Amino acid sequence: MINSNSTNINILLYHQIGDAPDSETNPNCFCSVKEFSNQMFFLKNSNYKVISLNEAMDMILKINNIDANYVVLTFDDGCEKFYDVTFPVLEKFNFPSTIYPLAGFLGKHAIINGHEYKSLKILSQSMLLELNQLGVEIGAHTMNHVKLAQVDNDTAITEVKTSKDTLEQVIGNKINSFSFPHGDYNSEVIEIVSQSGFTNALTCINGYANNATSAFEIPRKYITYFDTLEKFKSKLN
Ligand SMILES: [Zn+2]
Repeated sequence: MINSNSTNINILLYHQIGDAPDSETNPNCFCSVKEFSNQMFFLKNSNYKVISLNEAMDMILKINNIDANYVVLTFDDGCEKFYDVTFPVLEKFNFPSTIYPLAGFLGKHAIINGHEYKSLKILSQSMLLELNQLGVEIGAHTMNHVKLAQVDNDTAITEVKTSKDTLEQVIGNKINSFSFPHGDYNSEVIEIVSQSGFTNALTCINGYANNATSAFEIPRKYITYFDTLEKFKSKLN
């Protein structure tokens, strides 16, 4: 018998995957490749099914009773290490993923609030195109990682729309998904994202994605450098 309360969709939020975070990198925005591989190995051998964001959105919007436990893998900021380190692990397990590169810094170090992050080089245009052709979904995350609810309306519109246009030109495909930088948004920001042609938006609000109140306020589960495998498992429950 299907129990709608015991089966859920977990959308996981990762940032950088690598050996260890350096001094300028927030460990909450980092996961070691060893732990990440352990997490993917666990998922492969568990009763969780790793599905694409599109499959999950279809279920969230159309199905009341989620029939199994699902996991979606998302990666914010689009660190270049995704190409060398993360994608080979995902490929090994044949897991789909969605990445949200900062469109203002493709092939360059990200500059956020005036600070140039040497360890946060963003995927180049050719890397993005190749990853997309290999099945990785590309979403938008603004040009400059701005807090959209804190900037004026025109800046917010430009950040959202230009990031969509830029990425669409790079990959030659439509960009449907948006991730709010810093998880910062309000009803005006949702309106801008929806009016710009996105079909969904992901937040940093902790929770099951199937409990979303709208397609533009999808909860996620944040995975950090401090998550042991046991902690990872507990975040899925
Ligand atoms: Zn971000």
